[in-house]
Amino acid sequence: MGFLAGKRALIVGVAGDRSIAWGIAKAMHREGAELAYTYQNDKLKERVEKLAAQTKSDILIPCDVSSDEQIEAVFSHLDDYWDGLDIIVHSVAFALREQLSGNFVDATTREGFRIAHEISSYSMTALAKAGRAMMQGRQAALLTLSYIGAERSVPNYNIMGLAKASLEANVRYLAQALGPEGIRVNAISAGPIRTLAAAGISDFKKLLDYNDKMAPLGRGVTIDEVGNVAAFLCSDLASGITGEITYVDGGFNTVAIGLDYAKLL
Ligand code: NAD
Repeated sequence: MGFLAGKRALIVGVAGDRSIAWGIAKAMHREGAELAYTYQNDKLKERVEKLAAQTKSDILIPCDVSSDEQIEAVFSHLDDYWDGLDIIVHSVAFALREQLSGNFVDATTREGFRIAHEISSYSMTALAKAGRAMMQGRQAALLTLSYIGAERSVPNYNIMGLAKASLEANVRYLAQALGPEGIRVNAISAGPIRTLAAAGISDFKKLLDYNDKMAPLGRGVTIDEVGNVAAFLCSDLASGITGEITYVDGGFNTVAIGLDYAKLL
């Protein structure tokens, strides 16, 4: 029996089999959790449906996180299937493509700032608000995905860095607000992984290569490695952990000067 046996998890953010949310879903399924999925729009529905079937799930609910009505509808729909919810995985981010390129000051606009923060950070609060009632009286957990660009500047990551900084603060404030109800809230700060969202960042391949050179493990991480840590953090094995940002980045964040530094000069 897996360490998530008896748990019910809502996965928000699968767009395809390269999605980090898919790595998380696979790990949670392997550990015995029952899963439900949302999909952003009709274009993604069929793809998510096929993946969901691989984890023996046929609970698929549309949800564009820019809509409070759709977010609320997710939980009233889920309520028809399940009498409670143990886990919400928030693996969603968006910024206008033209803002993820070039000089931060030139690229950033008021509207771009609003969109990035609303979709990438506020949506976590919104899911917590709407999902809270279903998570009462159980050892429940929320999990989101961040990146080191929240804490340090990264070329081209631009407005998404600010949105991730907001998301990480969101994790701490949600953890404090929901702790008394037994709901834990954590984030994984993942190393760069080639996904649809990552493709929107200018020169992403260079970020990947740099990460490989700097990280003590000398390589990038996979969605399965992120998935395993996510499954742990959302399980009762992690019952003492909340408000934390856990790195799954091959150790990149711990390094000041990489072993290969001479080659970078
Ligand atoms: P992805 O493109 O597979 O996933 C992003 C998801 O966000 C998609 O499923 C998309 O449908 C969803 N989304 C975007 N706007 C939405 C909206 N308005 N409503 C509902 N859903 C919406 O890419 P990914 O890399 O797996 O991204 C997942 C998370 O991981 C993001 O928060 C991302 O910032 C984070 N992250 C990614 C990396 C990386 O290098 N890929 C590293 C660290 C953190």
